[in-house]
Amino acid sequence: MSAGHIRYTIHWMKQRAELNEKEILWLIWQHKSLSRWQIHEITGHTPNQVGLDIGRLIKRGLLREKTPDIKGPGRPRVPVAIDPSRRYLLGLAIRPGHIECARLNLLGAILGRQIRVDVATPDRIVPTISELVRKHIGENCAGIGLSTPGFVDLQRHQILSSPATVGRAPTPLAPVYAASGSIPITLENDMHALAARWSMTHETFGKEDVVLVFIQDGELGAAVLVNGQPNRGCAVGANDLGHMRLMVRTELCHCGHHGCLERICSTSFLKGIDGSEQNLLDRIASIKMMAADPALSKMTRYLATGLANAANFMRPNRLVLVSQFTRYPVFSDALLRLVRRRLLTGIVDRIQIDLWDQPGADNGETAGWLALAALYRDGWNCNLPADA
Ligand SMILES: [Zn+2]
Repeated sequence: MSAGHIRYTIHWMKQRAELNEKEILWLIWQHKSLSRWQIHEITGHTPNQVGLDIGRLIKRGLLREKTPDIKGPGRPRVPVAIDPSRRYLLGLAIRPGHIECARLNLLGAILGRQIRVDVATPDRIVPTISELVRKHIGENCAGIGLSTPGFVDLQRHQILSSPATVGRAPTPLAPVYAASGSIPITLENDMHALAARWSMTHETFGKEDVVLVFIQDGELGAAVLVNGQPNRGCAVGANDLGHMRLMVRTELCHCGHHGCLERICSTSFLKGIDGSEQNLLDRIASIKMMAADPALSKMTRYLATGLANAANFMRPNRLVLVSQFTRYPVFSDALLRLVRRRLLTGIVDRIQIDLWDQPGADNGETAGWLALAALYRDGWNCNLPADA
């Protein structure tokens, strides 16, 4: 057997072991706890293989054995669960003008408080993150999630363009990778981080196609999950639904155009119609019936058109709306009705529309969910070796 063949065999066996481990971790995440025998029954792997995989995961501090249930005849089976006490994950979110940082345990609970560090200029972003990495990693850190708005190049470990790094494109992240040493970094767009958080905390039926849309005042982004995994495209980034343009007069968008959906879904768009200074969220929260606010009704129709266009194009299993706005039933009922009315016949009854109340503005915490998804789920870890 040649040296190359041996190297290939070792590589293949390592990958195979990682796949087994991920399958087991994901099963236990979903079921909370399972015995070795149950895992054997579900996966079809031999009891011996399952025993070896579980042993390795316990040794690495990812799983722990729980007290067996001693009811019933025979030898009690020891349930195995995620160990939230030994290892942790670090989340780092790049935002325009600052960095957010949080630590999570392996069940996704935040440890301590989220930290916010201001960066005076974009050229301070990389040194600041590298410093945070050096300060917060240790031997128990199981992974780092790093999120940024804009487009990222996973092969070259760099930010291609981003509102956070204006005037500095592309931005190489090599110093951050050097600071992390052997701890894996999952670098992703911030909408994919949100999608990771959603997919880890919501039960879906198998590997669905999902369009997840984040909506707030003047900001609208989307992530597309194909077969449960983020849509990679020619560059990793958000699916820029916010810059879908409609034939309507808005203020100039930062992308250089008028009529963008995220300019329509904003306080300034409503002000342009009726001169009101009231902000969009307050307006949505206080409305008793949509007909009472013609400007808001108009905005809602445009928003529904944009969402339905995206859903008709993608025909996803699920359209998930992530927004504080959908807390208010007068608005959300009207929006959902208008979206449904614009969906194509034949798929309208197949697309499930879910509302997810915004899980807070903690971007560091959400970035930590990237590292969680990479640990537990196939297709989320994209720790490709740098080729430049
Ligand atoms: Zn735009």
